[in-house]
Amino acid sequence: MHPELAALMELQAIDVQMDQCRDAISRIPASIEKEERYLTGFESSVAELEGEVEAARKKLREAEGEIQSFDQKLRDTRGKQTLVKTNEEYRALGAEIEGYQSRISALEDTVLEIMESMPAHEEKLAGARGELETARGKVQGEVKKYENHQADFERELSGLLDKSKALAGGVSEEWLKRYEGLRKSRQGLAVCAVVNRTCQGCRMAETIKRFLEIRDSEDRIYTCSNCKRILYYHEEGESVELSLPAVDEE
Ligand SMILES: [Zn+2]
Repeated sequence: MHPELAALMELQAIDVQMDQCRDAISRIPASIEKEERYLTGFESSVAELEGEVEAARKKLREAEGEIQSFDQKLRDTRGKQTLVKTNEEYRALGAEIEGYQSRISALEDTVLEIMESMPAHEEKLAGARGELETARGKVQGEVKKYENHQADFERELSGLLDKSKALAGGVSEEWLKRYEGLRKSRQGLAVCAVVNRTCQGCRMAETIKRFLEIRDSEDRIYTCSNCKRILYYHEEGESVELSLPAVDEE
């Protein structure tokens, strides 16, 4: 086999691995986002329950304020009642006083009701906060895992890059250029096997004559007559490790 062809085959294998690393790295941010989205359900139930507790507290403050104000009116009216001259005026103020008393009593019922419901609201809120904390802990663990994967892939990538540079040193500028061009135009697969006369990149068959030349050549690099990929002979029946699943669609 032509020594440059051997280097190009290795280069192709390393580039495939690098593509896989880059692909894996590019998918990590979305995975992290998905993890973080998992928290929004917990966050919104905490917010909702906080809102409920806050609303109950507000209602309580309002009722207490109203009680105070009716209490004041009640005292004022009682004061006035001691000063009136006629029975009629006295009775009228008496009715006013009864009205205030019944308002106050209704408001006191409301206050009691709210105060009795508060512990349950607060307990629910504490429960939801606990669930949120647990979920946060879980998500942080998952995010850390993704970050570690990313670091692993980046380390692997940098090791592969060194290997690829070393291999590129053994290939002429002309073939390297063709290789890079094919990688760009042929879905990342520039070098592929020809098995049973068929290019594994585009599935087109070479003529028998040309196939035999490719198979037996020691000093020449052949390319596919159809897709122009760099070809190497691969015995039928053996697995072809360098073929990518992506075969040309045309
Ligand atoms: Zn081809």
